[in-house]
Amino acid sequence: METTSKVIIIIALLLLSPFLFFHSFAQKPAAQSSFPKPKNVIIMIGDGMGYNCVKAADDFYGPMQIEDFPVKVAAATYPAKSGEFDEKDTSKLNWAAGYNPAMASKDSLYLRKDFTESAAAATALSTGRKTYNNVIGLSITYDTLKNLCELAKSIGKSAGVITSVPFSHATPAGFVAHNKTRTHYSELATYMLFSSRCDLIMGCGNPEFDDNGNSLSGAWKSSKYVADSMLWLSLKSGSGIQTSFIIKDKIYQVTDVSGDRIPDPWTLITSEKDFRKLMSGKTPKRVLGIPEVYSTLQQNRDFGKNETKNSPPFLKPFNPNLPTLAEMVRGGLNVLDNNPKGFFVMIEGGAIDWANHDNQKGRMLEEMKSFSDAIDTVVAWVNKYSSWNETLLIVTADHECGDLWGGNTFSPVSDNGRNIMPGLKYNSKDHTNALVGVYAKGKGAEMYNLLAGETDPVRGKFIQNTAIPQLIFMMWGPPVTY
Ligand SMILES: [Zn+2]
Repeated sequence: METTSKVIIIIALLLLSPFLFFHSFAQKPAAQSSFPKPKNVIIMIGDGMGYNCVKAADDFYGPMQIEDFPVKVAAATYPAKSGEFDEKDTSKLNWAAGYNPAMASKDSLYLRKDFTESAAAATALSTGRKTYNNVIGLSITYDTLKNLCELAKSIGKSAGVITSVPFSHATPAGFVAHNKTRTHYSELATYMLFSSRCDLIMGCGNPEFDDNGNSLSGAWKSSKYVADSMLWLSLKSGSGIQTSFIIKDKIYQVTDVSGDRIPDPWTLITSEKDFRKLMSGKTPKRVLGIPEVYSTLQQNRDFGKNETKNSPPFLKPFNPNLPTLAEMVRGGLNVLDNNPKGFFVMIEGGAIDWANHDNQKGRMLEEMKSFSDAIDTVVAWVNKYSSWNETLLIVTADHECGDLWGGNTFSPVSDNGRNIMPGLKYNSKDHTNALVGVYAKGKGAEMYNLLAGETDPVRGKFIQNTAIPQLIFMMWGPPVTY
């Protein structure tokens, strides 16, 4: 373990020690059992969802449910090393400058420098370690870092990832896999399907369909997101049965997810009907859900005739025959809750970022609605099938994208009323180093207030993004003793 991470953990423990101290006197004799241990942990990530995406959605649709969550802090998202990873020329990575609240509140050029991207941010959010840009689940010296899915599996829980973009894309891959770079989609998909012990993987990347959900009958898109085209055909024909597969002359076997040493085959679902069916009743043990569309559920569909990047949402009808992110989530939870020991799941609104990169205001608002509906679905599930005393829900973003404001950087978004486009302006086509929101509810959520040791003049108390999983590692890992 590196000195820096030791220091981070020691600081985190010191911050938590008043809590532990208080409880060791208040609740004798079992001091350790008073440390919150949620049965289920759900992390929801709006990719690229800065504070002003949330503000724009609040203005257009009415306040998102996260505004009422009992714990609201901010998070710094910067990586250990920013820039672009290039295996042949590592000088393209530089130590990041961190986050300076005074600079960030007045210097727009400062905000647009040294930002993270989704792979490093996903690694930080899943392993508790800041690392270099573009990496999946490795440290700056390429050591394999344990992620939250692996932690959950190591204590007998179920684990899964759900996204509205390809399942092997940076954020879901960063919660499951390990690779020097996010661009190795085929390797990442192979790892997720045959090395991980995940019970559930849902996301786009279906090679047989385009971005409008039209069947390509033979003239397939690239199969990179699902690893390999022959594998894809085998996954379809052997759904629920086949345990060994061949990819480019190498044999791969599915893993055992339940600890009985019997390999568990993937049940592949693709149709809207099968996604709907998954939402209630009995489910297969292990599910791979790939909707009938290529890169995103809706954001990457063609623009309508009179639609522009500044148009309001929903001008062009949605792609038909697809589940919504909320329906995928409802079905996914129905799979994961089969395990009496509980589960971990990461749910991503992945295309908020894609709309932001392209400065599409209306499409961004569509993606915010999709993500907000998914949050409502999770909250309703906890209320009906679990409780806030056994489930911890954290909603956050991996980074800001687009330097989105009401006008130039730092000018507020203007609320023009419900269903009217708020005053918005993108000042960049890339990410920024701005703080993002952390909204938490349920078992142990209040611990994030204790961990928020830094203060921003605009956003208030903030944590490092790495504190989000560090707390879960403390809750689910070996007990802390003094
Ligand atoms: Zn991005």
